[in-house]
Amino acid sequence: MSDDDTELEARLEAQDSFEPPESFVEQANVSDPGIYEQFDENWPECWDGAADLLDWETEYDQTFDGSNPPFFEWFTGGELNASANCVDRHLEDRGDEVAIEWVGEPTDEANRTYTYEQLHREVNEAAAALREMGVGEDDVVTMYMPMIPELAIAMLACARIGAPHSVVFAGFSADALATRMNAADSEYLLTCDGYYRRGDPLDHLTKANEGLDGVEHDTETLVVNRLPEADSFDHDLDDSQTLWADAVYAQKGAEVEPVARDAEDMLFLMYTSGTTGQPKGVKHTTGGYLSWAAWTSHAVLDIKPEDTYFCSADIGWITGHSYIVYGPLALGTTTMMYEGTPDYPERDRLWEIVEEYEATQLYTAPTAIRAFMKWGTEYPDAHDLSSLRLLGTVGEPINPRAWKWYYKHIGDESCPVVDTWWQTETGGMMVTTLPGVKEMKPGSAGPALPGVDAEILDTTGEKVDAGRAGYLTIQKPWPGMLRTLYQNDERFVNEYWREYSDTDSDDWRDWTYFPEDGAKIDEDGYITVLGRVDDVLNVSGHRLGTMEIESAIVGVDGVAEAAVVGGDHEMKGEAVYAYVITEDGYDETEALRDAIVAGVEDAIGPIARPEQVIFTPELPKTRSGKIMRRLLEDIANGEELGDTSTLRNPDVVASIQEQVGE
Ligand code: ATP
Ligand code: MG
Repeated sequence: MSDDDTELEARLEAQDSFEPPESFVEQANVSDPGIYEQFDENWPECWDGAADLLDWETEYDQTFDGSNPPFFEWFTGGELNASANCVDRHLEDRGDEVAIEWVGEPTDEANRTYTYEQLHREVNEAAAALREMGVGEDDVVTMYMPMIPELAIAMLACARIGAPHSVVFAGFSADALATRMNAADSEYLLTCDGYYRRGDPLDHLTKANEGLDGVEHDTETLVVNRLPEADSFDHDLDDSQTLWADAVYAQKGAEVEPVARDAEDMLFLMYTSGTTGQPKGVKHTTGGYLSWAAWTSHAVLDIKPEDTYFCSADIGWITGHSYIVYGPLALGTTTMMYEGTPDYPERDRLWEIVEEYEATQLYTAPTAIRAFMKWGTEYPDAHDLSSLRLLGTVGEPINPRAWKWYYKHIGDESCPVVDTWWQTETGGMMVTTLPGVKEMKPGSAGPALPGVDAEILDTTGEKVDAGRAGYLTIQKPWPGMLRTLYQNDERFVNEYWREYSDTDSDDWRDWTYFPEDGAKIDEDGYITVLGRVDDVLNVSGHRLGTMEIESAIVGVDGVAEAAVVGGDHEMKGEAVYAYVITEDGYDETEALRDAIVAGVEDAIGPIARPEQVIFTPELPKTRSGKIMRRLLEDIANGEELGDTSTLRNPDVVASIQEQVGE
């Protein structure tokens, strides 16, 4: 490192807040600091502005209907169609502009570009093919597809005919597919033959067929042919299965009138990742959800039609629904879709894509950023990333060190970084800085968005003081919120409302949404999410957030990633167990162990001192990239391990067990 670099690192490390870059503010979609006050004074009508980002077939009568809590409704009486909003209405001005830019994993394969005109054609033909297959309004269509353009096309085709989709992440097991199709009584499946992962073709249809064996009712399937002849698998389709290409070709030139959907009609179902317990069928609606996806894309991601926006998530997660498909397309921009992993064929694949397509925004996850950090700066440094204007993260808290790395090495200190807290259930972003308005504080997601009323409460429902750990709650409804858990209103009430609401009251003000995350707030209203309620430790009577301790550990030089869990302890109740991955080029030494312990004591206090620091080459992660702390806890306590079937890397568990046993 040169002296200049060292100086810069030292300056960044010492800095704990960052003003939005002037050049960004000047052009930002939202730059008026008065927006917070205006929204507060004008709630709920402030959300008319979100609805105004859409085209309505029939104007709504009422912005918000709170008469039957917690079954809240938005934009009641209004009618609209999501596919008309994401495709048709852009044809006149932007028909020749690119809607979807798809990049496959193999570098020798041509990218696929869809202009709005072409997307319109594909969506119409797919919608006609779905109808031909028998899909009617309100029939749930399951999609079990990787990141191929047909997935986005199929979602929009469903939206066009008013059939809710339920996308099941392609990396999930056959069992997971069967459970979800059974739970939703879904008779239709859209899937594909296979796809590429790290250079190898994967057989997907065999897995899909295993899933179908577990479905209790009759089904019809369309199969997209993704793999070229040379890499294809031997599959025989049965009578209930048709090739997508054949079904769509038969509808060449078809026009399907978008069905006018009531604002409150279901747009889709999404089963949450299931990091904990039984999957929940989160129901999202057409008017409220789409307004929320569009408004947050506009205000937080700063999306403009002329942008090339890149979100590296998978459409199998809510992030891909809201911020690859619905939000960006509702705003008429170019949205990128990348099929593969960021390290194939080399660790600079994302940077290569950003450079080649001149991406203007990048929205990714902290786990990816920590991997980029571990790999080293030579990969981004080899590319021109100057097209980027804004960076975002989602999925878990981002520790200050990773935040600053992202800010400096990817954003060149000229892009705001938005750390966005939200959930499958919230439909879109809830807590984050408005990038053209608010200063950024690494380690904190930021204040609640304008019009979103977040409070941090203790177990008795009292507000906690600034700086103290408590529970994140949302005091007022918002348009993008889930409406219920599919066919399970009771679980919906129990899961999200019972904790902090007066459930006998029919006044919506007595109802509080509980996301089940721990958090704290500072004097400026900035919220730091500490992790799931289940992940908060109780050490000698002190409540400690696992995320906070992890952040301190990852702040130590030489540490790439860390996971903290509580192990049973006779004296303390719980003791801190830290699992640590070192950065490339660092050894697993006693000195590093001491530095980690000291780092935690410095940042939080002796109370948080790790009882054990366990070095490991990998952490057990779910397929969405989240650490499975539950397993690490079982290991720490020497208990029988629970279900490991949703793990991406099940092999790592045995090697960690060995080390803890030592
Ligand atoms: P499940 O609910 O099925 O167990 P999940 O909660 O992991 O799975 P998601 O809805 O994808 O499924 O994730 C939402 C959760 O992710 C939040 O409740 C929070 O715990 C965490 N999270 C997301 N974004 C952030 C963020 N920016 N900062 C901190 N935590 C975040
Ligand atoms: Mg959750």
